[in-house]
Amino acid sequence: MKITDIFKQNEITVSLELFPPKPGVGLGNIKKVVSECAELKPSFMSVTCGAGGGGSYNTIEVVREVQEVNGITALAHLVCVSLGRDEVSKMLGDLKAQGINNIMALRGDLPHGVSENTGDYRYASDLIEEIHKIGDFCVGGGCYPEGHPEAETLHKDIENLKIKVDAGCQFLTTQMFFDNNILYNFMFRLLKNGIDVPVVAGVMPVTNSKQIERIFKLSGAPVPPRFKAIVDRFSDNPKAMRQAGIAYATEQIIDLIANGINNIHIYTMNRPKNAKSIMDNLSEIFV
Ligand code: FAD
Repeated sequence: MKITDIFKQNEITVSLELFPPKPGVGLGNIKKVVSECAELKPSFMSVTCGAGGGGSYNTIEVVREVQEVNGITALAHLVCVSLGRDEVSKMLGDLKAQGINNIMALRGDLPHGVSENTGDYRYASDLIEEIHKIGDFCVGGGCYPEGHPEAETLHKDIENLKIKVDAGCQFLTTQMFFDNNILYNFMFRLLKNGIDVPVVAGVMPVTNSKQIERIFKLSGAPVPPRFKAIVDRFSDNPKAMRQAGIAYATEQIIDLIANGINNIHIYTMNRPKNAKSIMDNLSEIFV
């Protein structure tokens, strides 16, 4: 099923994200991770993809596992930086052959030490236009409630986002954020700029102290004082930190839904146990 139809048919959706194993290491325990996440009956499951093309084939293996083996609609990420048109066309053909018709189209970032994009696409919007020329796919894109790190201003980033939506981006998933007010402000700005496609709010349960520094560095998101207090108090007690991280993410999701943000994406990071704890907390809200 197309993800845009899932949004139309369900008042509330909760999706989960997985990442595939690195190329050359086999599928490892990912099959178990996929089936444990599928048991939670998410609205759909997305599978990330490494930049540069090589990792994309593991993405295809995992989306196959999600959709064909476990019967959950899959969303395959496709990252275009350094890719040629022929490579993109082949990957889309291979995804189509597996029955995958939902694509999260991303530009990606150049790998460390690479200074130039030698591929055929400059922005995600170029990839999105191409995907629609190649076949009948439902296409989503990324967005950044605090502005993409390369954008001069949030305003400029939202103008660029409008180009992406006009190119055929049918829904947007946000980068993780830890203060819902930032998303509410962003939603207001999107509407003002004529962006009215569904926006899926990305929530990351931060459950161990090792993740914390890396996540805030990667996302560029400032640490809200309320979250900082939790980390300061519990980060040296792994069980307490996990419990507090799950509670924080749950509360964030409940507040989002209470304020009309009905499409939630949980950055599960291949941890079905965390996804289960959050889904259990939402059992009367997401039915
Ligand atoms: P774009 O939409 O192309 O934007 C990149 C920058 O260019 C922005 O600053 C934007 O303002 C600017 N821009 C866009 N269009 C124009 C234009 N026409 N003119 C001028 N400037 C423009 N990375 C991975 O490697 N694998 C993944 O699986 C992955 N999944 C992700 C999922 C989500 C939901 C999100 C939010 C991010 C994900 N990323 C992933 C990270 C992403 O690849 C990086 O954040 C990357 O830096 C930007 O990708 P993008 O598709 O948002 O780029």
